[in-house]
This record gives sequence, C-alpha cells and structure tokens, in this order.
Amino acid sequence: MLKTPNTYQQMSKKIQAIRGMNDLLPKDSALWLLLEKAIFDLFISYGYQNIRTPIVERTDTFCRAIGGATDIVEKEMYSWTESSGESLSLRPEGTAGCVRMMIEHNLPREGIQKVFYQGAMFRHERPQKGRYRQFHQVGIEVFGAIDAKVDAELMMMTYALWQVLGLKNIVLEINTLGSSEARTAYKKVLVTYFNQHKEQLDGDSLRRLKTNPLRILDSKNKVMHSLISNAPKLMDCLDEESAQHFEQFKTYLDALNIAYVINTRLVRGLDYYNRTVFEWTTTDLGTQGTICAGGRYDGLVEKMGGIPTPAVGLAIGLERLVLLLEAQNLMAVEPTLSIYLVALGEKAQVKSMQIASTLHDVLPNAIFYNDITLGSFQSQFKKADKAKAHFALILGEQELNNNQVSIKPLKGQGVQQTMDLEEAIKYFKENT
Ligand code: ATP
Ligand code: MG
Repeated sequence: MLKTPNTYQQMSKKIQAIRGMNDLLPKDSALWLLLEKAIFDLFISYGYQNIRTPIVERTDTFCRAIGGATDIVEKEMYSWTESSGESLSLRPEGTAGCVRMMIEHNLPREGIQKVFYQGAMFRHERPQKGRYRQFHQVGIEVFGAIDAKVDAELMMMTYALWQVLGLKNIVLEINTLGSSEARTAYKKVLVTYFNQHKEQLDGDSLRRLKTNPLRILDSKNKVMHSLISNAPKLMDCLDEESAQHFEQFKTYLDALNIAYVINTRLVRGLDYYNRTVFEWTTTDLGTQGTICAGGRYDGLVEKMGGIPTPAVGLAIGLERLVLLLEAQNLMAVEPTLSIYLVALGEKAQVKSMQIASTLHDVLPNAIFYNDITLGSFQSQFKKADKAKAHFALILGEQELNNNQVSIKPLKGQGVQQTMDLEEAIKYFKENT
C-alpha cells in the first residue's frame, strides 16, 4: 500500500524535537535572559557593537574559512544542495559569516571593527552533556588591530564576565601558533617525530599525520598522552615577531592580574589561527570543560578575498556556561517586584486594565499579571500564588465605587490595605 503522510501510522507518531536540539522551557529562560544581558551589557561597555548574520551561508564560505582538514568541515556540517546545484550549510560557528560580512560590506576599510554576535550554531556531533547539535554561542571579533593589547582586551572582558557571574574554577590556557612560516617548519619537525612513533598513533591521528598533523596534539585519546607531551614544541620553532607578540600578551595579562597557564598542546580545532590561541576551561563540567575559546587569525580576511586585515576573536558556549552556573549553584535570578491584578465584575476588568497601563509606565521594571481567567476572587488569588506574585492589587465593587484599590501582600504576614492609586504607586515604589 502506498503510504501518504496522512496514514494512521504517521499521524500517531509522537511529535518530537531532533536529537541534540533542545527547547528552552519557560521555567529555565529567566537565567538565559539574565546571562545574555550580562554578556551584552559588558561587551557594549567595552565599545563593541552587535552584528547579526544569516544562519545559512554557502558551504564554500565555511570550507574556506574553517579549513578542509577540520572536524567541523570533515564531518559536522549540516549541508544540502539547492535545486540550482549550489551547496548551502547551517553555520557551525560564527567567524566565517562575520568575515564574509566584513569583506562584502568593505568594513575593514573604515578602520578597526569591534563586534559581537550571538545565536544558534549547528554541528552534527554525538550529543552528550555540554555537546549538542544545535547550541548557542556569543562571539567577539576584532578586525584591523595587530597589537597584543587587543588579544589582552578580550581576556580582560571574559575575565570580567566570570567575575560578574560569580564563576570560580576557570583556568585560562594560552599558547602561540607563531607565523604561518614557523608553523610550516614546525609541521615538518612534528611529522618526523610522529612518523618515528607511528605504532602508537590511533586511526584518527594516522589520518591527520597526512592532512593536519598539528591536530594530533589536540587528540583527547589518553593512550597517546605521553607521546603528545614529549612531542617537539612549536614554542621552540617560533619566529622572533611572534615570540615578541606572545611576550607582550603575557605582560598585559600579568599587569591585569589574570592568571594563565601555557599549554603548548593547545592548537585549537580550526585551521585559521595564528599567533595567540586560548581557552577558558573548567574541571567542573567533565570532558566538555571548554567554555570559551578563540585566537588570532591574521591571514583569514585576505584568504577569503578581502584586504589584508589582522583579526582576533573568541566564542563562548552558552549551554556550557549555564551548566557551569548550575554546577556552582549560581542560579539565583533576582526576583523582580511582581503584582497580580485581581478584578471582579465587568467594570472592574476594564478599570483594572487602565490601572495596569498606568502602573507599567511608573514601575517599568516590575512584572504585572492581568487576570485573564475572570474567575472568582478565590480562584484569581490561587492564580496569583501560582505566578509567585509579591502582591495582589484588588479591584472589587467596593474599591471601584470609592475609586480606590486594595493591596494584599502575598508573601509574609502583611495585611491588606485599601488606598488611592497614587498612594498605591508610592507603596510599590517603596517596596522595590
Ligand atoms: P570541543 O573541543 O569541545 O569540540 P571546539 O574546539 O569544537 O570545542 P569551538 O569551535 O572553539 O569549539 O567553539 C567555541 C565554544 O563553543 C566551545 O568552547 C564550547 O563552549 C562551545 N561549543 C562548541 N561545540 C559545541 C557543541 N557541540 N555543543 C555545545 N557547545 C559547543
Ligand atoms: Mg568540536
């Protein structure tokens, strides 16, 4: 039998989200909003401006920016072919689109660009705690500044963010990848070393030995740990200018009292990095311990067709940040003054909406619940409790006739009082 989407089987199939792609439920969203606001406010206070780029770009844009021999391009992208034959992809990260935007709108010609973005990213990974197929990043990128001072500014901003959020147990790991010439020389040294110990390499690393040997250093395979620790260090092949840049970077970090550890194995997953690379990591989240990562990518804008423009950036994984806030019990969302407007009778319903409108104007930070059940007083009070409102503002027949309102505190022992609206406003202002 020919199956159409209307068959009983199809209709009875439970409706479900895609694996690794999560809903944000109303009960959890306050923390996300607070977190995003804290991040945006902080970045804005450092003179960064928000940008938004499309979620879909040409696949080629990602391949050119991220590099063919990376996990992302090799196996993690959601790509499809349009009827025109063109391949498009959901963005797996934000830098490629941002660079594309910079070039398309000639922004680097106008001087230094300091921007931040936020949004969903998509990678076809094995879902687990802290690793999803749709996840959210906030990222920063700076175009047109070569000095290590800007690399340090990014560390200053992220460090300030951890302080604002009250996070502990986060370590800054830094490394330098030098110039592309130094990296080419280093790759040769590394290939020779790993070739001498080929029998200790796993399948992935054997493949990377040919495609992207630096990435072997990034391997999470514990068996190869000592082989990797003993590998020659890029630090020893460093060009003079990059060595100096790294020294400057460290001088700024020291001056700002930002502690760091140098991790010579830190090479980052993406191809485009040079010089400074860094990760903020924590041991409180198991294997998915990197909450923020980034680095310098001075050659990318030119490689993608723009004018030569040094650049540096980072991305913060929001799901991991939320997990960390939970793990460290930093979930407290400050309760805002909230008022449930209880009203009985048709006239009172209308008047109560007028009052709500006035109150919104004079108490812009408070939350107001208009009763929309139109139930009995008792059932409206139940709804007010369920909404966890601090006060009920009551409008019954008597209040309406006397042009007054009653206020009943719903938390603690306070007594119900009846007064003019003016007095009520004063009362609420004193209670915020
Ligand atoms: P990992 O080594 O954990 O796979 P990555 O090097 O692929 O990380 P980046 O591309 O640097 O990660 O992304 C920056 C940040 O975005 C990461 O540090 C992490 O916090 C977050 N992130 C990356 N991939 C995921 C994912 N699949 N799910 C949730 N967060 C992610
Ligand atoms: Mg990854």
